[in-house]
Amino acid sequence: MIYEENTRDLILLEDITSLFRVDNTYRKNSLSLTASENYPSMLVRVLGSSLSGGFYHFDPPYDANPGEWYFPDSGSMQELSKKVSNIGMAIFEAETFDWRPNGGSAAEQAVLLGICSRGDGFVHFAHKDGGHFGLESIATKVGIKIYHFPIIEKTLLIDTAKLIKMVYDHPEIKLIILDQSFKLRFQPISKIASELPDSVILTYDCSHDGGLIAGGAFPQPLLQGVDILHGNTHKTIPGPQKGFISFSNKEHPMLIPVSTWICPNMQSNSHSELIAPMLIAFSELASFGGEYARQTIKNAKSFAAALSDEGFFVSGEYFGYTETHQVHLILGTQEKALDITTNILSKSGIRVNNVEIPGSNGAFGLRLGVQAMTRRGLKETDFKEIARIFADLILKKKNHLDATHEIKDILQEFPLFPLQYSFDHMLENDASHDLLREVLR
Ligand SMILES: *Cc1c(COP(=O)(O)O)cnc(C)c1O
Repeated sequence: MIYEENTRDLILLEDITSLFRVDNTYRKNSLSLTASENYPSMLVRVLGSSLSGGFYHFDPPYDANPGEWYFPDSGSMQELSKKVSNIGMAIFEAETFDWRPNGGSAAEQAVLLGICSRGDGFVHFAHKDGGHFGLESIATKVGIKIYHFPIIEKTLLIDTAKLIKMVYDHPEIKLIILDQSFKLRFQPISKIASELPDSVILTYDCSHDGGLIAGGAFPQPLLQGVDILHGNTHKTIPGPQKGFISFSNKEHPMLIPVSTWICPNMQSNSHSELIAPMLIAFSELASFGGEYARQTIKNAKSFAAALSDEGFFVSGEYFGYTETHQVHLILGTQEKALDITTNILSKSGIRVNNVEIPGSNGAFGLRLGVQAMTRRGLKETDFKEIARIFADLILKKKNHLDATHEIKDILQEFPLFPLQYSFDHMLENDASHDLLREVLR
């Protein structure tokens, strides 16, 4: 009986291991060019499943006495949470850091619900201008009025004068959220912040460009007059799938309402097992973020220009195609973009997704991101090579087998371990293995 149970357990373990092996091989053999994903380092991956999973931990980002639902703690959770908060505040120039949101959507929804009530209004990016999808359904259901940013078509920037007029014409507007997930440029936030009335709260969702901000390639929103910075930690920030909310001022009157919406109103558990991986990812940014962010932007610019040279229609020629990790490639109809994604590119080992491209009158295409492959070590010339392979496959309709071989060769040169701009190199000595084994026991 005991023997049979052991065998069953072993079969289960083999089963899971083999699924992991398949997935790992897929990741290794994929040229990942989605704008919303990254390759986390080995420590981020390993620590995400260990230590404290299973124990609740949900202290708010301000001093509060233990009350109802206080859970005892060894002291370690408190210490880890303090460490992640300290480094979060340091890399985002913030006075508070709430690690609890279970993603960028939870963070933006807590900001909306904490600040606006039924009958109030808020401004964010329309879907056609790259706004995130996480706010409108909830606002409609609750009875919060939705306004969209006025955008200058040629530059893709917010028309500040029109925005300020909109805010004065509609006194019910309480909140402005910069929630672009299609993001080629940094918006003029210091100008917006300086002209807004004090009654309106300005927040910045950095789910996409958090790593570029932490690396110093973009200005710090909280130093530009933004009240709240929020977002997730797995796009240009190479961390676990998690989120955060930071205030520029720890005395801000909305700190408690927004924090209360995250937990306990929207979330009960906050995946506290992911604090350690967040801490590692932020530490990697603190150590290597500058170089990583600069190389990411150089790679995106090189990729965009090369795709255009090959004959593709790339968004944003007017401003040099991109200032971020993203490149927007316009392909045509939705059917065509989907066919290229699933039947052509993914068959050659290229991972992308097809989407409606902002500022293109409803055309579909690819929102490409170079951050993940930058972590594998690719540089500007490698992205020129990839642009050439895109042209062979899509424009010249060459056989995908040649491209598949070429992609394989590129990937072999840039393995998944050790990743650049990460602590992976630390794990190449035996002492670190002993320490990790201790954590996992
Ligand atoms: C990706 C994204 C989100 C959602 O993040 P999740 O972690 O998937 O919940 C929210 N806001 C913006 C602007 C995003 O780009």
